[in-house]
Amino acid sequence: MYKKIQLFGLTLSELHCICKDMRLPSFTARQLCDWLYKKRITSIDEMTNLSLKSRVLLQEHCELGLSNPIKVQQSQDGTKKYLFSVGEDHTIETVYMPGKDRHTLCVSSQVGCRMGCQFCATGQQGFADNLTAGDILNQVRSIQESEQLTNIVYMGMGEPFDNTDEVLKSLEILTSDWGYAWSPRRINVSTVGIVPDMVRFIEQSQCHLAISLHSPFDYERQKMMPVQNKYPLKEVFKTLKNYNWSQQRRLSFEYIMFAGINDTSLHVDALCKQMKGLFCRINLIKFHDQPGQEFQACTEDKMIDFRDKLNDRGIIATIRQSRGEDILAACGLLATLHNKTVTYDDSTRTCQS
Ligand code: SF4
Repeated sequence: MYKKIQLFGLTLSELHCICKDMRLPSFTARQLCDWLYKKRITSIDEMTNLSLKSRVLLQEHCELGLSNPIKVQQSQDGTKKYLFSVGEDHTIETVYMPGKDRHTLCVSSQVGCRMGCQFCATGQQGFADNLTAGDILNQVRSIQESEQLTNIVYMGMGEPFDNTDEVLKSLEILTSDWGYAWSPRRINVSTVGIVPDMVRFIEQSQCHLAISLHSPFDYERQKMMPVQNKYPLKEVFKTLKNYNWSQQRRLSFEYIMFAGINDTSLHVDALCKQMKGLFCRINLIKFHDQPGQEFQACTEDKMIDFRDKLNDRGIIATIRQSRGEDILAACGLLATLHNKTVTYDDSTRTCQS
């Protein structure tokens, strides 16, 4: 069946091409951007500065491509977890975390994930599909609190640099003057360290970068994160040290603390050594217990002690507040169990070997 073009999630240059193909005036592309990204329209009919002829033509071949969440759950701490339907029969989760001055949205970039991190519910669910830039931005556009957002983090379901083209496109639309005109300083993208795509991101975007570290030791990280087999930490750190990081463009490391595994003085020593010469910070994250998981959470005292030891050695370390644990919205808990997963056999990309 003939599939209509989804306008939401297209860049200015893609809209230029569409206008050209449809023989619409070239300035229509800018007008479309205005309607799509600056005004909250819900139909092509509302694009009133376009001629009737243009609107009829657009309606014939295109649709907006917006979709409302199909479910929302609210935590005792105010965190909300939204469920969106994407593609043929998949769903993804998005987490909204309100604060005093900061209202953060954690977006998903894939349906499931093929990175297979042992401690993560999404990783255990497997991979089903990539999201389009439109699917990613629809999470920002279609939640109730869309206009209150101050920060966006790409830390939901999926590995952003396993879907780099669409993630970069979504960032271009978020940060361009013709798009949402967000400051890149308010957007943070997290990766397990897929080096070539991480380099693309560093060079093509100004947004902050977070690396999922979880252990400074190769053998230990290998057991938790299969990506370590393909892109060892040594390579990740060597690459990161080629770039300038600052307060303006932040580099941070995510470190989930597992009791009796990555919480010793040896880990503090190794982390200090690894981070030497890098302007960065480390966020310590509480592990959230999951049924059937061999990992256990560290006590709060242990986390404070670990943080203090790092701080004493000149590494900026903070403990990230846990949000939405009661609705399974906290770090590592996102999974949409009814998604159908597919086997992925492209050995050049998979990290699960
Ligand atoms: S932690 Fe991130 S990269 Fe690893 S499996 Fe979970 S979603 Fe994927």
